[in-house]
Amino acid sequence: MMQLEERLRADIVEVGRRVHDRGFVASNDGNISVRLDGDRLLTTPTGVSKGFMTPDMMVTTDLTGRKLTGDREPSSEILMHLAVYEHRPEVTAVVHAHPPTATGFAVAGIPLDRAVLAEVVTTLGSIPIADYGTPSTAELADAVRQHIRAHDGLLLANHGALTVAQGLFPAYYKMETVEHFARISLAARQLGGERLLSREEVNRLQDLRDRYGIAAPAPLCPTDQSDNVGVDCQTLDAPAQMGSKLVEPDQAEISKAGEVPEPRIQARRFGELGPNEEVRLTYRELVALLEDAVKQLR
Ligand SMILES: [Zn+2]
Repeated sequence: MMQLEERLRADIVEVGRRVHDRGFVASNDGNISVRLDGDRLLTTPTGVSKGFMTPDMMVTTDLTGRKLTGDREPSSEILMHLAVYEHRPEVTAVVHAHPPTATGFAVAGIPLDRAVLAEVVTTLGSIPIADYGTPSTAELADAVRQHIRAHDGLLLANHGALTVAQGLFPAYYKMETVEHFARISLAARQLGGERLLSREEVNRLQDLRDRYGIAAPAPLCPTDQSDNVGVDCQTLDAPAQMGSKLVEPDQAEISKAGEVPEPRIQARRFGELGPNEEVRLTYRELVALLEDAVKQLR
């Protein structure tokens, strides 16, 4: 076996173990794939727990999902992965899991599309919801196809989440970020709502992508509309003025959780905040935060 393939098999085992250990999957859920070369993929097999895989279990397929080697069958959700590789030639790895909080948002029909955290704005941008499609069918692959050209992370309606990247570990880290962001968003909504970053700040953060070597196009929506045909591209909800918009939880979003909490902070401009209210980052703090986030990606 070639050295590269051997290493990738071991890496998939390791990512599977982490996805399982973090509770991003239950039972035999989830699947992982990587590009081996121009026309072959290496993928997890169907019907095994991602926490207990061994390198020899992996399956190689061509770009149509036809099995080339392996004792087992490829993941039943391979079609979704194929759609990603078809539309994103630079992407080399895809991770699919059912992380509970992010999947909660996907089940509730609430996209993660608010400009809240600097590192998420920079690394993932907006995380939309792909329409529901029966797992393992072309229907789900078509739903993914709608969004994947403009986004590196997707929620899958009533199902789970999908992340893609150049590299297996970066794709896995994006899954961690999606779930972490979902947990923070949920906590903020329970506390009365999110105070959003401004559009200007979002633009500045997205400009930093170049500086940190984070590849375009995803997760930026192409500014040239002619590049945007057939691409469902969702921008971040960011007001003109930082901190001037407090997004209160939608009644429908939390009605099942019982009482709707009163927002504890009123929307105000930053200049009007008290001395002990920490909601603003200096440029240096922001850069330090981003550097940490980028280090995590490597
Ligand atoms: Zn799934």
